[in-house]
Amino acid sequence: MDALIVGAGMSGLMAARTLRKRGYSVKIIERGRSVGGRLATRRVGEGGLADHGAQFFTVRSDTLQDYVDRWLAQDLVYVWGMGWSDGSVKRTAGDGHARYAGRGGMNALAKHIARDLDIVINRLVTGIKQDQSGWTLEDSAGDVFQSRGLIMTPPVPETLALLTKSGIYLTEADQTALRRIRFGPCLCGIHEIEGDVELPEPGAVQNFQANVYWVADNQAKGISRTVLVTSHANAKFSRQNWDAPEADIIRELESAVQPHLKDGARIVRTQLKKWRYSVPLTTHADECLLADNLPPLVFAGDAFGGRGRVEGAFLSGMAAGHALAEALA
Ligand SMILES: Cc1cc2nc3c(=O)[nH]c(=O)nc-3n(C[C@H](O)[C@H](O)[C@H](O)COP(=O)(O)OP(=O)(O)OC[C@H]3O[C@@H](n4cnc5c(N)ncnc54)[C@H](O)[C@@H]3O)c2cc1C
Repeated sequence: MDALIVGAGMSGLMAARTLRKRGYSVKIIERGRSVGGRLATRRVGEGGLADHGAQFFTVRSDTLQDYVDRWLAQDLVYVWGMGWSDGSVKRTAGDGHARYAGRGGMNALAKHIARDLDIVINRLVTGIKQDQSGWTLEDSAGDVFQSRGLIMTPPVPETLALLTKSGIYLTEADQTALRRIRFGPCLCGIHEIEGDVELPEPGAVQNFQANVYWVADNQAKGISRTVLVTSHANAKFSRQNWDAPEADIIRELESAVQPHLKDGARIVRTQLKKWRYSVPLTTHADECLLADNLPPLVFAGDAFGGRGRVEGAFLSGMAAGHALAEALA
């Protein structure tokens, strides 16, 4: 195997596609039960779908725009809206920038990008070894995988913890650069509603002044047949309340949904999802980082390139694929 990639989120998937296009054999190892990482969509009951990680994505680069134009033509993505109300108006005028969503949920887009790639799911990479011929990964099932080159795409603090545990030592400069990267947490609610909700068109409120800054109606979004609302708390509130009793967190999340319930509607259940690493708060300026003094090893993900978010992960994955291809050549 030429390359192993840890993580089948947007960056890992794009890295794999890039390497394969350049003629390299590549395998992804993913700990989740599905591909997508933070492009996460949860099935709830009959016909219910809720995006609970990334809610939408924006496009600023020509590279992603080219892909999005193709995805639009294939109906894999659509324009959900042009901006969000902070709750004070029923319909936002928008800012002229499209917010794209995946048809059938954000995870469906990841599944499309993952099609026909070689991916081992449900396996946590627990150990990494280096030798003269490259890398050996060990997973939670005790299987080992070998390759000449390696791309690490988990959130950087998780990657660093795994390297340290495995006794892989980076140069001082690489360590310092990677240690600077910080992520914010996010406490997320998936609320099952009996009755109807009313959120400003196109179905969400975004108010950065509030503890719970995002409330979205997955039915109005067009992905759920049942009324399912997603709520996200901001990084400060999420950090302060990370270890609070679940009932207290849920109460706060539900209090942001209550004002949007129509007469007679009620929240019947709330599932809590805790994202320890939701979005990068500090990033690395380059789109990926090729480690010094080791067999070919590239760090990638949304924390690289200064953009963050889905677009940052997409571009970082591509850049990492090219960087590893060049290192292997
Ligand atoms: C609550 C929330 C809201 C967000 N909202 C938006 C938004 O509206 N717009 C936007 O653009 N972005 C948003 N984002 C950010 C966006 O989801 C991410 O920037 C992007 O999906 C990151 O992709 P990635 O490939 O870098 O990382 P990830 O998607 O995290 O992929 C890393 C993968 O590595 C896997 N992994 C980790 N450790 C191991 C291991 N040891 N072994 C095997 N596999 C491992 C993980 O399971 C994961 O699948 C949001 C994120 C969250 C959590």
